[in-house]
Amino acid sequence: MILLKGCFRVLQHDTGPIPPGSATSRTKSETTDLEGVDVLVEGNRIKRIGKDLPAPSGARVIDARRHVVTPGLVNTHHHFYQTLTRNLPAVQDAKLFDWLVALYEVWKGIDEEAVRVSSLLAMSELLRTGCTTTTDHHYLYPAGFSDDLPAIQFEAASELGIRFAPTRGSMSRSKKDGGLPPDSVVQDEELILRHSEDTIVRFHDPSPDSMRRVALAPCSPFSVSESLMKRSAALARRHGVRLHTHLAETADENDFCVEVYGRRPLKLMEDCDFIGPDVWFAHGIFFDDAELELLAKTKTGVAHCPSSNMRLGSGIARVREMLDRGVPVSLAVDGSASNDSSDMLGEARQALLLQRVRYGSAGLRSKEAWRMATESGARMLGWDEAGRIAEGALADLALWRIDGPAYAGSLSDPTAALLFCGYDHRADMVIANGKVVVEDGKVLGVDEEKLAAAANLVAKGLLEKAELS
Ligand SMILES: [Zn+2]
Repeated sequence: MILLKGCFRVLQHDTGPIPPGSATSRTKSETTDLEGVDVLVEGNRIKRIGKDLPAPSGARVIDARRHVVTPGLVNTHHHFYQTLTRNLPAVQDAKLFDWLVALYEVWKGIDEEAVRVSSLLAMSELLRTGCTTTTDHHYLYPAGFSDDLPAIQFEAASELGIRFAPTRGSMSRSKKDGGLPPDSVVQDEELILRHSEDTIVRFHDPSPDSMRRVALAPCSPFSVSESLMKRSAALARRHGVRLHTHLAETADENDFCVEVYGRRPLKLMEDCDFIGPDVWFAHGIFFDDAELELLAKTKTGVAHCPSSNMRLGSGIARVREMLDRGVPVSLAVDGSASNDSSDMLGEARQALLLQRVRYGSAGLRSKEAWRMATESGARMLGWDEAGRIAEGALADLALWRIDGPAYAGSLSDPTAALLFCGYDHRADMVIANGKVVVEDGKVLGVDEEKLAAAANLVAKGLLEKAELS
């Protein structure tokens, strides 16, 4: 048991969605920060929230008078292996298709050790910045690569104590079939589907407080065939798992789909039955009005990736309009070769600011950014009982110190201060599934310095193997 005593503030979402329409209606649903309350965690659940709760015997009592307590953040799109190819000079200024074609040449060299180290690195960065649940989209299986990639990743997640819902990604359309990736990193469709099913059977746990989920994620319309999209959707539905892919990320993708499939990307997905409340798309920048309506009507989700969209110059997603129309929107850091970090709190700040570039000074409010980064993400990955602070909810919590100089003068609205102010995005403490996994800003499940050294070594080896440097 853990008792957080006298929390400076607790961010508590209203239970319903933020209603569309006027600024007034949104403001009304924002005033939910609790002041000076205690939060009692028993097992993996929040047992009670209230003033002056007695400490049960054996409980660890944490003085939280200087902490802002928020739900653990949820990251809904990532490519862990890309942490090993951050900031490469050759692609620092490239747009998506050129960036991918160059990086495939490096990525085709990844092996089991690269997956293990990059998974630990990405997940530890996420934890350190307050994230308690993440997905990963691993779609790159070089020829001869181990089938046991999911086992390596689940092992890393379990060492760190993070809730993990990876997707079994895939690529089947190489250059010779008109796609972007080289032949050496794509797989045969039958093999992909067999391994996808095997991964679901071995690792997917649908229980409400599960630490392990699996979803299926053909990579994108320009790296898989229409038939793989369709068959993946059918397989996911047979097993009750979710579906994910990149969609509407660039104008180039749109042109590709019109030329190759004779349809815009979302129409292609609709024809593949790859749409609905069990589907979420990464990016979603180039949806038109009718497509936004279709997403809202079908409750299909979008993982907004503001840093990546800025880094690659892809564009600004219409998040304000998505929220107003009722499209579920979550938040994601995207792969670390297009971010180039896994800073989840920083991503919420980027979302807040980027929408204002497009829609003006009230384009996105702090509580909306918080909701996207927590509850909406948890729902999108299939956890209804995570992502919010309420009695009975899963105990996934981030504790932030805002009593230092970076936040001085900002304490009239402490939860907003975490997004508007600050430059060190490390949480002081993180609790995932009722267990302390970050303490004093340090990730407990791994030696972070040794991990950084190991990652640099593997990254160097990858570059030496490739022609790019
Ligand atoms: Zn991505």
